[in-house]
Amino acid sequence: MIVDWREVNKHMLEITVNLKGKTALVTGGSRGIGRAIAESLGRCGVKVVVNYHSNAEAADETVAVIEAAGSRAWPVRADVSCKQEVDRLFEEVRRYVGDRLDILVNNAGGPGELTPIDSMTEESWDRCMAVNLKSVFLCTQAASAMLPDESGRIINVTSISARSGGGIGGAHYSAAKAGVSNFTRACAKEFAARKITVNGIAPGVIYTDIHKNMTTKSQLEELRRRIPLGYVGQAKDVAGGVLFLCSSQAEYITGEIIEINGGMLMN
Ligand code: NAP
Repeated sequence: MIVDWREVNKHMLEITVNLKGKTALVTGGSRGIGRAIAESLGRCGVKVVVNYHSNAEAADETVAVIEAAGSRAWPVRADVSCKQEVDRLFEEVRRYVGDRLDILVNNAGGPGELTPIDSMTEESWDRCMAVNLKSVFLCTQAASAMLPDESGRIINVTSISARSGGGIGGAHYSAAKAGVSNFTRACAKEFAARKITVNGIAPGVIYTDIHKNMTTKSQLEELRRRIPLGYVGQAKDVAGGVLFLCSSQAEYITGEIIEINGGMLMN
């Protein structure tokens, strides 16, 4: 067989993200990275359930942006660290999008209270594990029956700290995110038989409310100096990776973690 490389190259250049009409749930889709993911999916014509925990106003804003872009979106309040609430969340998801959920983005999370190990409370440890790790298990389990064989996608938002160990005071968080990364690989194996891909995205320093509330200007500058590309990332930088993983161009990628950190992991 003679391969016409001009044709091959032409196809490779056609990196389009054709997701129109698909359905997605983005946990923690009301603010920051989750919001950028939800809005990017919405702009591609995906119908998005925007989960949030307490900030209904932010969730409504996200929904409004998606609807203004011509797609459909619904805000649903639920604490994804709690099974009862996840069950209720998925009842709502079914009510809005029916029995088929094409894309699950497990994004909700955050470090919570930062404390050195000597003074870390059991409660703080358990809460961090529940919000960041248990939530991913609960939502994955609840979504499983709704994900279509051959094309379903699960994308878990982990963190650079899963590999680096993170900053002082965040041992519970980096341990939970390391759990998310390995849960991602375990799920990739289990879901492979159904041709559903499971991947992770590991952001580095992304300027969202987490850093607005917890990082001083001088700490942020210190972090910036450790980023080879020379600047702190934005939520949209993470959303681009998620769109790629949702696209058909990524159908042969599973069990992978994409690091989005401006090269910070190399330092
Ligand atoms: P963010 O701006 O604080 O937003 C967090 C989002 O998660 C909000 O929508 C929040 O809802 C939701 N949420 C929190 N706890 C929840 C719960 N129990 N149930 C349901 N929703 C919940 O944080 P972000 O920076 O976008 O972080 C998003 C993800 O990226 C997290 O998993 C985080 O660990 C990860 N990450 C972030 C960075 C970074 O530099 N920003 C780096 C690495 C990894 P409400 O609006 O209702 O509060």
